[in-house]
Amino acid sequence: MKHDLIILGGGPAGLAAAIAAYDAGVRDLLIVERDRELGGILNQCIHNGFGLHTFSEELTGPEYAARFIEGVRERNIPYVLNTMALHVSPEKAVTLLSRTDGLQTVSAKAIILAMGCRERSRGALNIPGYRPAGIYSAGTAQRLVNIEGFLPGREIVILGSGDIGLIMARRLTLEGAKVKVVAELMPYSGGLKRNIVQCLDDYGIPLKLSHTVVDIRGRKRVEGVTIAAVDAQNKPIPGTEEEYACDTLLLSCGLIPENELSREMGVSINPVTNGPVVNESLETSVPGVFAAGNVLHVHDLVDFVSEEAAAAGRAAAAYLENGETARREIPVRFEGGVRYTVPSTIDPALVRDALTVRFRVGSVMKNRIVSVWMDGERVQKKRRQIMAPGEMEEVRLTREQFDAHPGLDDLLIRVEEA
Ligand SMILES: Cc1cc2nc3c(=O)[nH]c(=O)nc-3n(C[C@H](O)[C@H](O)[C@H](O)COP(=O)(O)OP(=O)(O)OC[C@H]3O[C@@H](n4cnc5c(N)ncnc54)[C@H](O)[C@@H]3O)c2cc1C
Repeated sequence: MKHDLIILGGGPAGLAAAIAAYDAGVRDLLIVERDRELGGILNQCIHNGFGLHTFSEELTGPEYAARFIEGVRERNIPYVLNTMALHVSPEKAVTLLSRTDGLQTVSAKAIILAMGCRERSRGALNIPGYRPAGIYSAGTAQRLVNIEGFLPGREIVILGSGDIGLIMARRLTLEGAKVKVVAELMPYSGGLKRNIVQCLDDYGIPLKLSHTVVDIRGRKRVEGVTIAAVDAQNKPIPGTEEEYACDTLLLSCGLIPENELSREMGVSINPVTNGPVVNESLETSVPGVFAAGNVLHVHDLVDFVSEEAAAAGRAAAAYLENGETARREIPVRFEGGVRYTVPSTIDPALVRDALTVRFRVGSVMKNRIVSVWMDGERVQKKRRQIMAPGEMEEVRLTREQFDAHPGLDDLLIRVEEA
């Protein structure tokens, strides 16, 4: 079987990409989703706070997802559920596995990668101690509480202050559990400021920065953990140990884009984001393969996932119409503590009205200016009181700015002292 466009993943990125591609004229498309329903991770995010940018309303995750699922259904965009993409070849042949249809290969002229991300596992974190029951990733705990209806424990310690851990601190408190402490290795939180205020401060849950778990007690079930302060090299400082009796340890230590399929098909991966390297059209190093959402780089807000994915959908439609076009690659350079940018390269001729470049900084910085330089001229600056690794930043480059710099060959985004 062959399709013009296959979208791998039916979360918010896949749904928004499909709708935008359809609205741009693509009719032969297919969304492939391994779960039993569309909506992705949003289905388990029953808290509100979604959609403020897109709909100017505060929605829960399932409500936000429902609007895009409706959009897919209204357009009769085909999708398959309970179907896992196992492999994608560089020629864009996708191997699918499902209980009902078994193993089949479907090929496409264009592909949008929208497989989301996964949580960092405990094994990768090297915590000493036994491996008793009662250790969960925060996302697994969220699924257990919000979808399966189980409480994973009653006395909880959370390691890592990523947004999922913060949200779960509040959720478990509301369900009657006692969340004793959130320990964060870094000197700053990995989550959004609003989640620290609304999920920890409002419930009196302490956040200990520059702390980590150094021991887990209990053989069959977690009985307690030891946390300790760490030095500037993240090494535990002897004598700072504190004991916490608990039956559950939640890990919220970051997310990693889900890119095994991308790697296998030869897509170049950015070692900082762990997502594909993309150009202004969100096209990867394999022509006709696009990426959007958490598979590209981990987002804080789903609104930006939807916006980015719609751009990928339109770009895929343009690729299907025009095929591969000759292009210039201008790297987006960055300085002053910026860790990466998405996109990594730009062809100014292919930017329509404007282009949003998103990035994160590597440490907390106060009183800064974000500047954009084109061929040595500063074309915009924006003052930022505070910048933190947990909050995604963006600059918007306009068509007029590119037009004012014909033959542009140096584009720089720099964070400067104010
Ligand atoms: C716990 C949590 C809380 C959050 N809270 C907020 C919030 O308050 N406000 C906010 O704006 N944002 C929030 N977010 C962020 C937002 O939910 C994400 O940015 C968004 O869901 C990312 O969309 P996505 O489509 O890229 O990924 P996902 O939602 O993860 O969707 C990816 C989809 O791809 C499917 N898939 C993966 N691999 C395959 C494969 N091989 N074959 C077939 N299908 C596959 C998955 O099953 C999944 O359905 C939160 C995220 C989490 C995890």
